[in-house]
Amino acid sequence: MSKEKIALFTIFGGTGDLAQRKLYPSLFKLYQKGYLQEHFAVIGTARRPWTNEHYHGVITDSLASLNADPAMVAKFADHFYYQSHDVTDAQHYITLKKLSEKLDAQYGLEGNRIFYLAMAPNFFGTIAQHLRSENILTPNGFNRVIIEKPFGHDFESAKELNDQLTATFNEDQIYRIDHYLGKEMIQNISAIRFGNNIWESLWNNRYISNIQVTLSEKLGVEERAVYYDNSGALRDMVQNHILQILSLLTMDQPVEFTEKDIDVEKVKALRSLRPLKPEEVATNFVRGQYGADGDVQAYRNEDKINPDSNTDSFVAGKIMIDNFRWSGVPFYVRTGKRLADKFTRIDVVFKRPIVNIFNHDDVRANDDADAHLAPNVLTINVEPTEGVELQMNAKNVGQGFATTPVKLNFAHDSAATANSPEAYERLLHDALNGDATNFTHWKEVAYSWKFVDVIQKYWDEHTPDFPNYRPGSMGPTASDELLAKDGHEWVYKS
Ligand code: NAD
Repeated sequence: MSKEKIALFTIFGGTGDLAQRKLYPSLFKLYQKGYLQEHFAVIGTARRPWTNEHYHGVITDSLASLNADPAMVAKFADHFYYQSHDVTDAQHYITLKKLSEKLDAQYGLEGNRIFYLAMAPNFFGTIAQHLRSENILTPNGFNRVIIEKPFGHDFESAKELNDQLTATFNEDQIYRIDHYLGKEMIQNISAIRFGNNIWESLWNNRYISNIQVTLSEKLGVEERAVYYDNSGALRDMVQNHILQILSLLTMDQPVEFTEKDIDVEKVKALRSLRPLKPEEVATNFVRGQYGADGDVQAYRNEDKINPDSNTDSFVAGKIMIDNFRWSGVPFYVRTGKRLADKFTRIDVVFKRPIVNIFNHDDVRANDDADAHLAPNVLTINVEPTEGVELQMNAKNVGQGFATTPVKLNFAHDSAATANSPEAYERLLHDALNGDATNFTHWKEVAYSWKFVDVIQKYWDEHTPDFPNYRPGSMGPTASDELLAKDGHEWVYKS
């Protein structure tokens, strides 16, 4: 059976950063692998008055780092068509419809359409509405829309956006991108959990002490300053990526590994998040903003950032899940900019053995923490290393019976990682296949916003004492204290 997929892509925002950095290279990789062959075409639209020739040059430039065969690149670029289009102008959709129909006939696209909205979300409603009113959706093939984050800035705005989209598309035609769900090791969470009896048997509050999720960035706000300053770490990272990861870590086993069954379990997990009362926010969530250090300027002095900004460039939080499996287990999450390093990792900290028979007297007599055995820790390294690490206790070599923590380590070899598709390539392929497993569904978005809104509202009503962390650190000391007061500590320390 041919693996070729047949579709017309219409990319709104075809001149933008996302299109050039991620979408064109990902489409090209699908082309190289034979998922796209002759029966595909791409319409790039944006306001600039580009010609097709200029557009082909942009496509070619966007693939420069791939060092691909120039003849193949040229053949690929021939499938691209540029249309200057202001998405708020109804007239332009008439031209778009004509071009779509022409390409459909020319490339034999069978009415299959994927609309990629690589633009600011305030345009999504207008685009969806015009796609319907101008009859750009086809009755014979599939019609799917891919949406970028952010999906709203709180529950109300997300609901409004969703209502606008669902006036044109059904939920199963909407593919909300969360690019973390396209990452190899995030997808691997389910394989590790449900493919291994030892883990799934222990994956509950009887054996797990706490779970830590860290999404750490080394850079500052860079070119996303205007957007970021209106958003902050909580909305930019926790509402979507972190809560999605949490739902995969905590959901019950789906009946089958299918989109519908997984969604059911993820929604149950997100519904079980213990909602914070406003007065509990300050004791369960920590926000931070970096100051200056050496050559690194403070957040408030970054280009295009409001000099009085109270936006959080760091957040750490303790999340509880009220269900049979997780009751009593804290989930500590943190993310921020200008931290010690760039990485994403998950640390599952197991409970310690109750008695340390190797150091029996110390534990009993003094309740000396150092005399306890170290906990087993299962670390899922998401990036830049992709792999799994297990810390366990073993005997020190030689005389006596002192124990020492040792590490079992698995990392994908670099050849496998090099061939592993990037998140966007994987997700575009899924969308072509009609598989929305690794996209976020509306109910997941809704429960996530409801959880986050309480925190954001409390923060908006209380002035923070910023700046409160040093660039190159792992955030404010309050983040360490959040765990310390429960008798825990971050597994990763800078
Ligand atoms: P960008 O500013 O580089 O591109 C925006 C595009 O929209 C441009 O092509 C511009 O010409 C077009 N546009 C603006 N107004 C228009 C109008 N009225 N009619 C037609 N076209 C118009 O933005 P970007 O960085 O490519 O981001 C696009 C979307 O993707 C945003 O929602 C952003 O939040 C999201 N996103 C981007 C990235 C990234 O890495 N760039 C990552 C995650 C999410």
